[in-house]
Amino acid sequence: MIEPEFTVAALPADEQLRLEDLYSLGILDSAAEERFDQLTRLAQSVFDVPIVLISIIDTNRQWFKSCQGLDVSQTGRDESFCSHAILETDILVVEDVMQDSRFRFNPLVQGGPHIRFYAGAVLRGRQGHALGTLCLIDRQSRTFDSQQRELLLQLSKIVERELNHDIRIGEYRDLISRQALFDPATGLPNRRLFIERAGHVLAKHEAAAVVVLGLDEYTGAVLSLSPVDQTQMDADLAERVEQVFHAASHVASLGEGRFAAIYPSFSSEQMEGFTPSALRNVFARPLAHTHHRLRPTAGINIATAEAHDIAQMLTRAELARPRNINSYEQALAIYSSDMGASLQRTFLLGTRLRSALEESALRLVYQPKIDLTTGHLAGYEALLRWTDGQLGEVSPAEFVPVAERSELILELTDWVMREAGRQLNEWRAQDMPSYPIAVNLTAHDLLRPDFSSWLQHIVADTGVAPADLILEITERSLVDDVELAAEHMLEACRLGFAFHVDDFGTGYSSLNQLHRLPLSALKVDRSFVNELGCGTGGETVCRSIIALAKSLGFKVIAEGIETEQQLAELRALNCDMGQGYLFCRPLEVDSVEAFLARSDATVRQ
Ligand code: C2E
Ligand code: MG
Ligand code: MG
Repeated sequence: MIEPEFTVAALPADEQLRLEDLYSLGILDSAAEERFDQLTRLAQSVFDVPIVLISIIDTNRQWFKSCQGLDVSQTGRDESFCSHAILETDILVVEDVMQDSRFRFNPLVQGGPHIRFYAGAVLRGRQGHALGTLCLIDRQSRTFDSQQRELLLQLSKIVERELNHDIRIGEYRDLISRQALFDPATGLPNRRLFIERAGHVLAKHEAAAVVVLGLDEYTGAVLSLSPVDQTQMDADLAERVEQVFHAASHVASLGEGRFAAIYPSFSSEQMEGFTPSALRNVFARPLAHTHHRLRPTAGINIATAEAHDIAQMLTRAELARPRNINSYEQALAIYSSDMGASLQRTFLLGTRLRSALEESALRLVYQPKIDLTTGHLAGYEALLRWTDGQLGEVSPAEFVPVAERSELILELTDWVMREAGRQLNEWRAQDMPSYPIAVNLTAHDLLRPDFSSWLQHIVADTGVAPADLILEITERSLVDDVELAAEHMLEACRLGFAFHVDDFGTGYSSLNQLHRLPLSALKVDRSFVNELGCGTGGETVCRSIIALAKSLGFKVIAEGIETEQQLAELRALNCDMGQGYLFCRPLEVDSVEAFLARSDATVRQ
């Protein structure tokens, strides 16, 4: 009798490059890791399937980085379903294996584990080649709708980010240790190399022009991308920037979607190709993998006898760069000593803020944080308020970034910490129930060299306990120097301080990275909470983020809860704490007492 046959998957066209991409990860045969097992367990319960694998396709085997529901760590490549899946763009779904001639007589169908249903989402490496899949297997056939596909794809993106994260960190470290002079994302010279090269141009051409071109949409665009897509987007961006600056003496990437160029002089002949209409043409299409409408703007600084320093010229060009423009005609601006109203305002804010600190024109307001299980008040977040005699009420969202440009931020945060401590003492002296107060720290605060002795001084001077002041740090502040940040955080934790990650979901950190830091909670950003109940893709992302954070053992706090529906959904997701206008707006000190009396510390059951 002839043995019934099954189909062995063809080799992908990029097999050689694919294997190189895979081997560069150094992941094959590595030990099991909780972060991946958490994800596969999560998938197992979300999809209610007996088997979930992170399967990596090697030359002649499939090897499992994580495996739920099977006792083996690898199988042959020939019989693996995943070797078929990696030929797909993003996903392979086989709802009923017995109806598919490719698989019906596969040994894994005919014998153990008796596969009847398979869904595998492709995982890609740094170079974009398929490495394997995150796959779901059932012993019964089943249907798999478009929403389930979407969720599996979302989860696979998270797995992919984790897989690629380690190698990226390793690569960056290598580059840094070789004192890299090139921006790893775009391959263009970096700021340091630019300053050196542009310096030579400036030495020969007294009226050289420095240009800074920026895409304010860059950060937003990057956030939603996988590492592979991000690499392709950066490459696309670099190509267009080089096109616009084709006549420049030197071009560089300053990071975060900003680029610099130097021309021997400011003239249309010298700067050929660099015009508003050229910008419009080159940036008309969205960047690879993004849908953001692009509005590049550029600031120009022309050297003068008194301003003859590249670093300073870069700063001035950046300052001159127009923001929030309505048409390309407004896309270019030349720096002049009387720049526009917005520049003046930034400058004014900087100087007024300094006197505000000295003249105590600042105050804190306190927004209640609610325990979602009990409905009780659980603490406050201290938020800065500034009413200036001349400028009126200025939002912290406007003045904190201005303060962050100088050492002023350190004084500002120091003031906030001491004021929160003082207020806590006052409430205690009045026999009011007291709760921990969360304060916002910036990257500068976290990375200050004397971080732990500064905290010790605050505790000693105010007399409050470290546990009374919770430190909120944004995800972004971990990006600059995560090693140093981690070191400081550990020191502070030893003193008894706790850290919460603010605006979670909007930064670049991988859950793996966060998992290694001493964090007590993640505050899911308002933009995600906003999506709850809208039935959009963002809603799925919000749910997966919360489920993941919970499965990794973090407490989760939701920011910006405004509706009953959002609250109900967050409760259903086992979110621990919440904060938002639905409960209470930030309170002036005078109103806190009334709030406590009114709510009797129970805001909502
Ligand atoms: P954040 O730390 O994420 O603070 C939460 C912001 O969301 C606050 O805005 C708060 O008033 C607002 N908010 C709370 N609930 C809701 C809601 O239900 N709906 C809406 N639409 N908004 C809500 P605020 O006070 O304007 O502060 C903005 C940002 O400024 C803060 O974001 C924080 O990043 C920064 N900031 C405020 N105070 C300080 C401070 O003392 N130090 C530092 N470094 N930054 C601060
Ligand atoms: Mg905050
Ligand atoms: Mg926040």
